[in-house]
Amino acid sequence: MAKSSAKLIEKKQIANFVWEFKFELLESHKLYFEAGQYVAIIVDPKTRRQYSIASSPLSSENEFILCVDIKPNGLGVNHLLSLNIDDEISFIGPIGNFVMPKMLSTNLFFIATGTGIAPLRSMIETLIIKGLCKKHNIHLHFGTRNINDLFYTDLFDSYLRDGSIKEYTKYLSKESLPETISGYVTQFIPNLSPEIIPDSQYFICGGTEMVKSAEAMLLEKGVLSTNIFHEKFH
Ligand SMILES: Cc1cc2nc3c(=O)[nH]c(=O)nc-3n(C[C@H](O)[C@H](O)[C@H](O)COP(=O)(O)OP(=O)(O)OC[C@H]3O[C@@H](n4cnc5c(N)ncnc54)[C@H](O)[C@@H]3O)c2cc1C
Repeated sequence: MAKSSAKLIEKKQIANFVWEFKFELLESHKLYFEAGQYVAIIVDPKTRRQYSIASSPLSSENEFILCVDIKPNGLGVNHLLSLNIDDEISFIGPIGNFVMPKMLSTNLFFIATGTGIAPLRSMIETLIIKGLCKKHNIHLHFGTRNINDLFYTDLFDSYLRDGSIKEYTKYLSKESLPETISGYVTQFIPNLSPEIIPDSQYFICGGTEMVKSAEAMLLEKGVLSTNIFHEKFH
């Protein structure tokens, strides 16, 4: 796969341990991706790190956004954090099969923890831009540890207010606060109504433990494996 280059045009902290990076492709470089895919950033000749694209392919032709959990604090995180505006990165991509199928169910459930929201944000924005949010009910379940770890709250609140998404539930696993649910993001699954299940699809992204647990709970509820789509970050 061909190498591409982009320069950093925006960098900001958006939560306690999360930074957002906006890149502009260098002239003549193109990135034709599907919502849900990722890029592999070349950190050094021997090291690559994958980051899901958080922006929609329909929102800009020559820009893309990544959101990065800085806690792992390894080569990938430090490479990104050390970038200044106008610095260039090399990457390979788009890569990945975590994309929405052509035939979408009426009810679309998006389940994420932490920066696992990145590919789901891209998918949700794409559905909204295409006007598909009028035909499909978008349910978003987003979990973090503490309130200071949450991000994109204003964005998803505005989608909820204008009716683009039907549901936006925030879960905090280490804190109890108003307007959030205390505990794991997966806890709504046992209460899913049996009528909704045959016409629903599930898009899950985050750490392996959460993804595995959500998948097992959905299968237990009778969701077909062909209606579950997931990406594991670590
Ligand atoms: C398909 C795919 C897409 C991804 N997209 C994103 C994304 O959009 N945003 C993002 O922040 N990360 C994403 N990741 C994770 C990312 O690729 C790196 O693994 C992460 O940034 C750590 O890299 P590092 O070099 O800084 O740390 P490393 O040196 O690789 O790891 C340092 C330590 O942290 C642990 N660790 C690695 N990754 C994580 C993690 N995500 N959370 C907690 N502990 C971890 C490792 O086990 C190790 O002990 C994605 C991973 C995959 C496979």
